[in-house]
Amino acid sequence: MQNCDLCLVTCDLCLMKFPIYLDYHATTPVDPRVLEAMLPYFTQEFGNAASRNHSFGWAAKDAVEKARAQVAGLIGASANEIVFTSGATESNNLAIRGIAEAYRDKGNHVITCPTEHRAVIDTCRKLEGQGARVSYLPVDTGGLIDLNQLRASITSQTILITVMVANNEIGVLQPIAEIGAIAKERGIVFHTDAVQAVGKIPFDVNHVRADLVSMSAHKICGPKGVGALYVRRRPRVSMVEQISGGGHERGMRSGTLNVPGIVGFGAAAAICKAEMPAESERVRLLRDRLNEKLHQSLEDIHVNGTMAHRLPNNLNVSFAHLEGESLLMAIDDIALASGAACTSASREASYVLKALGIDDDLARASLRFGLGRWTTEAEIDYVAKKVTDIVRRLREMSPSRMACAEG
Ligand SMILES: *Cc1c(COP(=O)(O)O)cnc(C)c1O
Repeated sequence: MQNCDLCLVTCDLCLMKFPIYLDYHATTPVDPRVLEAMLPYFTQEFGNAASRNHSFGWAAKDAVEKARAQVAGLIGASANEIVFTSGATESNNLAIRGIAEAYRDKGNHVITCPTEHRAVIDTCRKLEGQGARVSYLPVDTGGLIDLNQLRASITSQTILITVMVANNEIGVLQPIAEIGAIAKERGIVFHTDAVQAVGKIPFDVNHVRADLVSMSAHKICGPKGVGALYVRRRPRVSMVEQISGGGHERGMRSGTLNVPGIVGFGAAAAICKAEMPAESERVRLLRDRLNEKLHQSLEDIHVNGTMAHRLPNNLNVSFAHLEGESLLMAIDDIALASGAACTSASREASYVLKALGIDDDLARASLRFGLGRWTTEAEIDYVAKKVTDIVRRLREMSPSRMACAEG
């Protein structure tokens, strides 16, 4: 086991495990209580939830219905409004494509914003290729859309507004209840990607007047490969299914249900619901502690996205006067993401940070801290010290710093 810089001897002392995981926006470990709930459904209770003629099928179906109620309970929905999917990427695809197809005769205009997750942006781009018109509402320097601009962009052709609750890079919370009210007033279907918000902050489908809501289990300490789309029943939203065959999930998503995964999703949702108030506050204090420590020890650092409307578990910081590439390379014992998306050979600056008007160099020299259920104070103190040391060292070496020093 690696030694840490704090206790210097062995990490049995402070019980820290390395690398430290601070990438909870990307995924989370499965909570042991969730795993325990899932296990029987791999072996003893292996039935197909669609088998109507024997007890194996009935047991699987009962387990799925219990999970459906648990997931619905986390967002103030009814169980029969939950459609299980393979994850939020599929949920976003189903919502956007399904509405575009169902409302083809009414119009072909969609409104979204440029900081949405790839699963929304790329799906909208695909629709554009098929003749739809998409408005990408600009965001301000804090990452928020302007409600007047939203109102102004609505036309008689608008069939869908899709804006996320919480951003996965900067944690910024859009004014989602206001957006929902505008959509309602204009009779437009409102979809929201709530993946990063559910389980972390209170979210209620009726309060925000959402018609469609995407969720994912693995972002809330559940298993990967399972998600859900909330589909409002009253008033009923018509949506065309994107996967046909068998008519599972009220015809909206065919395919044999992932029973263990769904059971895990339900258990994860129930744990979030019970523990969210205390857990969110605990994580928020740790996040604020990290933010304060970084600001106390370093100059010329910039928090990306407004702190006033933000998830409790997110901090995204740019460090001026250093190179983004070297920053992430130097941090060898902390698992986190940066504003340099290495999707291709070239390290593109994050499109989310760019949308906020942050220049490429500063965007690349940023770190996304995503805290979660197993983040400890000792870890946060270690991370604050380590990042400070590295940023100071890189700044001493940085050519841009030398240029500044030389005037
Ligand atoms: C992770 C994430 C997704 C994709 O969810 P999957 O279940 O991994 O497909 C969609 N939207 C947001 C905001 C996310 O953070």
